[in-house]
Amino acid sequence: MLELHTPNGEDRVLLHSCCAPCSSAIIECLLSNRIRPTIFYFNPNIFPEKEYLIRKAENLRYVESLHLDFIDADYDHTHWLETIKGLEREPERGGRCLKCFYYRLEETACYAVANGFTLFTTTLASSRWKNLEQINEAGRKAAALYPGTLFWEQNWRKGGLSERRNEIIKEYQFYNQQYCGCEFSFR
Ligand code: SF4
Repeated sequence: MLELHTPNGEDRVLLHSCCAPCSSAIIECLLSNRIRPTIFYFNPNIFPEKEYLIRKAENLRYVESLHLDFIDADYDHTHWLETIKGLEREPERGGRCLKCFYYRLEETACYAVANGFTLFTTTLASSRWKNLEQINEAGRKAAALYPGTLFWEQNWRKGGLSERRNEIIKEYQFYNQQYCGCEFSFR
């Protein structure tokens, strides 16, 4: 298993989690490195709400099996739509996605500071369909807005985690979505 060291020596981290398949191997790896994650579920980009609830329930099922804390944040898809207004026709990995990452990570950084977490990171970076640089840019920007917390930039696709992710999906028989999340990613 991949050897991990947090950038500030902390042994706990606030982990923004997008879904169970993307989170599973990362959570397992953190725990095997004695780093305790608190799961922060904030994904108002997901549409429709039924899909959002399925992804959340699957995430919770995995987190509860490991006896970890799960923070269930708000689902306000209307506000998310207002935030990305004008970028609806952008392709994936374009301007809408950068804004979407920032939207979610800013909320994560805000929660981190308010609740004593000096470090946060995200499972978004585990998907090879997403642009790692965009995610890191959004994370750094979010951390800069909330002094006292640091964004942990880690390439979660390496160190065997992608392979382990596929194994856990089978073990837990996770629901594995076919699109990124918002209505604009259907096509
Ligand atoms: S495609 Fe995915 S990352 Fe991009 S805006 Fe939609 S939900 Fe967010």
